[in-house]
Amino acid sequence: MPLALQVHDIENLPMDHSALRDLPVDPELRNFRRQAHGALLSKVQPTPVAAPQLIGWSREVAALLDLPAVPQSADSYAQCLSGNRLTPAMQPFASRYGGHQFGHWAGQLGDGRAITLGETVNRLGQRWELQLKGAGPTPYSRGADGRAVLRSSIREFLCSEAMFHLGVPSTRALSLVLTGDRVLRDMFYDGRAELEPGAIVCRVAPSFFRIGHLQLPAAHGETEVLQALLRHVLTRHYPHLLSAPLLPGTAVQPEVLLAFFEELCRSSASLVVHWQRVGFVHGVMNTDNTSLLGLTIDYGPYGWLENYDPDWTPNTTDAHGRRYCFGQQPQVMLWNLAQLGQVLRGAGCDAPALQACLQTYADVFETELAAMNLARLGLQPTQEGLALVDDQWPLLQAVETDMLLWFRGLADLPAVSEQRHGLTASDRELEAAVEQAFYSPADLQGPHRVALLDWLRRYQLELQRLAVADAARRLAMNQLNPLVVPRNWLVQQAIDAAQAGDFAAIDRLLEAFRQPYAVPADPSLYGRRPEWARQRAGCSMLSCSS
Ligand code: AMP
Ligand code: MG
Repeated sequence: MPLALQVHDIENLPMDHSALRDLPVDPELRNFRRQAHGALLSKVQPTPVAAPQLIGWSREVAALLDLPAVPQSADSYAQCLSGNRLTPAMQPFASRYGGHQFGHWAGQLGDGRAITLGETVNRLGQRWELQLKGAGPTPYSRGADGRAVLRSSIREFLCSEAMFHLGVPSTRALSLVLTGDRVLRDMFYDGRAELEPGAIVCRVAPSFFRIGHLQLPAAHGETEVLQALLRHVLTRHYPHLLSAPLLPGTAVQPEVLLAFFEELCRSSASLVVHWQRVGFVHGVMNTDNTSLLGLTIDYGPYGWLENYDPDWTPNTTDAHGRRYCFGQQPQVMLWNLAQLGQVLRGAGCDAPALQACLQTYADVFETELAAMNLARLGLQPTQEGLALVDDQWPLLQAVETDMLLWFRGLADLPAVSEQRHGLTASDRELEAAVEQAFYSPADLQGPHRVALLDWLRRYQLELQRLAVADAARRLAMNQLNPLVVPRNWLVQQAIDAAQAGDFAAIDRLLEAFRQPYAVPADPSLYGRRPEWARQRAGCSMLSCSS
């Protein structure tokens, strides 16, 4: 029997509240900044905004929630998705978590500007949490205002959805609402604060729980709180690991915790392989920004690698230590998981078994990265295939070379040179395949050119040995190496237009990001970073101010 096609409206979207049922709720109902000992959730109302306007909408996320592809009444959606109008089904709360920031324990952090409205269970039985980011202060706002600016909200809205279309696990974004209020921000913490337009993103995920959610009760010796959260996370998100229901008031068995940890180690390893493949740099991989479900979470000062540089970080706050640069992401994820390991040790798991899970992370990462690196070049694990992978990195680093365009160019290089009907191509043919990846034509000269041509010749020879048809190889490579990604300068153009009152570019980019592996008709949607973006704030430099 076909499933009934029941499309809801935001005003009557059914909501359930498993988190409020399962987890300790703060008895304090007044909204003031505080330490919320013994609780995981604090009920809090969004603070109304002046003139909400719906300026971004993901029809794919709407479909997940059984909402219409196009909202019937933009105003009613803007009211509900800004927090101005709560439906009777909504029961808003902010959650309490802690975390390590830049390697240091920061104590209680919590949802300082994110407010969950509830969970909706769709017609397939999937449960999705809806959370408004920027909906006003909560008990966890500390010294900040609970708001988010338009520029960072556009970035989160577009990148969440781009990640989904790229095939990278991520939290999602349903909507983007301009609030009509102004928000004061000092973008580079240099005393030049400005009023900026405010906005609210409605984020959607099975849950937004982070490593920091488990760390805080563990750090405070709140054993019951920790166990309640472990039971909830395992029951709701890892049910396949349970042979019997986890009963309230009981401690989760160490074997079950280890199975959960191992699975998270595996999924987090795969997640980082995806990031390295598409060139995503998270920018603030603190443990409070690391998902318990293996999702990309919290889009702040993220960036997209353009010229291949493992030391690159988009985050100016991190410019000195480069803890969160592209090349460090695999290590930092391991470090974050080790912090979770400490929590699980306190919950009864033994150290060697936890260590084995961390080793699994390292093994899965290495294996999947190696396979991905070969596949993105269309190669096999032969001795020469592996050597070609390794030998390309110094080349890409020697002169500014765009990582994604390098791989896209190689996909077009024929295994056998057609013009000459011979087995070897001319230097010019080889060079032509990849020249779009170079930031300066002058870089294609001298000793670098010799090394480059040598590598390209070896690559072509190996392709001949493998005897895979060019078309099939091109297709397979292009499915791993995206062309249309939210490069910072691309998204910045939509931000500039939106700040000037033109929101059309947001939807135009969302449309482009739906097909990241295809060649778009409009060449301005992909390509190397333009010169103007090199030193521009928001393109090459971002801060945590959002
Ligand atoms: P982030 O660096 O964005 O992951 O945020 C770290 C912590 O600061 C989290 O607890 C956030 O909720 C909080 N936070 C960030 N910005 C704000 C804001 N404007 N108002 C209140 N809390 C914030
Ligand atoms: Mg965060």
